[in-house]
Amino acid sequence: MSDFYKKILDNNKKWVEDKLKINPNFFEGLSKGQNPPLLWIGCSDSRVPANEIIGAAPGEVFVHRNIANMVVHSDMNMLSVLDYAVNALKVKHIIVCGHYGCGGVKAAMGNSSIGVIDNWIRHIKDVYRFHQNELDAIQNEEDRFNKFVELNVKEQVYDLAKTSIVQAAWRSGQELTIHGWVYGLNSGYVTDLGVNFKSNDELDEVYQLKF
Ligand SMILES: [Zn+2]
Repeated sequence: MSDFYKKILDNNKKWVEDKLKINPNFFEGLSKGQNPPLLWIGCSDSRVPANEIIGAAPGEVFVHRNIANMVVHSDMNMLSVLDYAVNALKVKHIIVCGHYGCGGVKAAMGNSSIGVIDNWIRHIKDVYRFHQNELDAIQNEEDRFNKFVELNVKEQVYDLAKTSIVQAAWRSGQELTIHGWVYGLNSGYVTDLGVNFKSNDELDEVYQLKF
């Protein structure tokens, strides 16, 4: 058995012991159900662990992660997570959290074929096309990359707001706010990009659903 593999099994035992020392009913309480106020849609990147960077305890955040924190409206996995979070768990906030230095976004800026993932990355390339003038005007490649990461998060916030699930929740008067964040790998801090949707009024009219 590799050292790493053995280490993580040992870590788990230690983690259970530590939790039980503080609260002997910790796991019994969690086993009764969950009522998280937050759905997190983040990148799969190993350096952006959802719970850890926001200090959330087990039970506080429902998590969906994929490459480059994408909200693809035909992705049944994402839609299922979103539907359950909004309609069953009644989360009050959804955060789309991207991060600077994102490999998925970087790949979308280039033209190399990597494999099947090219088809996923293509959704990020669409974001580039929507903002091509703004991005192409940025001479410094690092600055352009950072701006692309931010614009990608904003587009995913809009794409969430466009879903029938979120619009139906707003229509029924459910309290639900969508936020866009970017995490700094080299600082540990998140930045709120200030795209906070609370109703479908802020969407382009063509996306507004009438119920
Ligand atoms: Zn990433």
